[in-house]
Amino acid sequence: MNKKRVLIIYTGGTIGMLPTPNGYAPQSGYFRAALGRIDELHSDRMPEWDLIELSPLLDSSNITVREWNEIAGLVAARYDAYDGFVILHGTDTMAYTASALSFMLENLNKPVVLTGAQIPLCELRSDGRDNIVTSLLIAAEGAAREVCLYFGGTLLRGNRATKYSADGLIAFVSPNYPALAEAGITIRYRESALLPERSGPLRLQPFDNVPIGVIKVFPGIQFELFESIMTEKLRGIVIETFGAGNIPGDGTALLPIIRRAAEHGTVLTVCSQCPQGTVSLGAYETSSALKRAGAVNGLDLTTEAAVAKLYYLFSRGGNKEEVAAMMEKNLRGELTEAQI
Ligand code: ASP
Repeated sequence: MNKKRVLIIYTGGTIGMLPTPNGYAPQSGYFRAALGRIDELHSDRMPEWDLIELSPLLDSSNITVREWNEIAGLVAARYDAYDGFVILHGTDTMAYTASALSFMLENLNKPVVLTGAQIPLCELRSDGRDNIVTSLLIAAEGAAREVCLYFGGTLLRGNRATKYSADGLIAFVSPNYPALAEAGITIRYRESALLPERSGPLRLQPFDNVPIGVIKVFPGIQFELFESIMTEKLRGIVIETFGAGNIPGDGTALLPIIRRAAEHGTVLTVCSQCPQGTVSLGAYETSSALKRAGAVNGLDLTTEAAVAKLYYLFSRGGNKEEVAAMMEKNLRGELTEAQI
């Protein structure tokens, strides 16, 4: 029987970092040797795998649209040659990259599993070992044919995941969507949660460097300080509001700015500071005014997914109305559409 083939793309991140006088940092050439020392990866029961390292390797705080395009390009160029893909990535921005890839890889019908570690492979008690081994098995098995994130025993939909812990080994949660699988003694998939199979060829949608901003409201926020960037510079804004989509000050300071931003072609998406639950524009007076001023309902999108989706929709060349309409639609399982 032919063995399954998986491509590992190492982008950097804690998993392959070494200590330096300035703290942990990735070092080119080390990671391949580190994988060589994980016995399980060389077992007959593992899929065949190849490794590609990005250059330079990055702490994921430094990941940009350029690397998203590079990673997605590598997957697209080798799509037919492999059964699945494992992207090793720093945890800090892993949920952003997972969200971005979920949109960039249109018609994806193979697993793309992002993983990493909180403790580097060079240290005792590294969680990287299980994260890599299990991700490889998931990528080879092919049950989850979507961009997902495996960490600490749980497989999550990539565009539903968010980093939750800076130091725990269960670093990610998916507050608004069930886990796709749990890796206990066996890997148990939640079939009903997986995206359905897709047919047709993979299509890659690269991202442009679209100017996007994220604004988090807080009591006493002086919206006028943000006016010029909101109305002139940014094409997409994610606003993290209170609760179900509420803004301070009855919206008096913000609503005229939103109206002007909308006139300039900016799409403002309302997300919540609460990780769990959904924005419900119109449930309160302040939030219905947001809708009337031209804001988009971000529903239960994570901020990471909202940012990635804005990049995607603007990169596809949509105009403001199209982008605004698509933001509220479910494209890759990233949100729960409002019941009308
Ligand atoms: N700063 C690291 C990174 O995101 C953290 C990690 O990988 O866990 O690259």
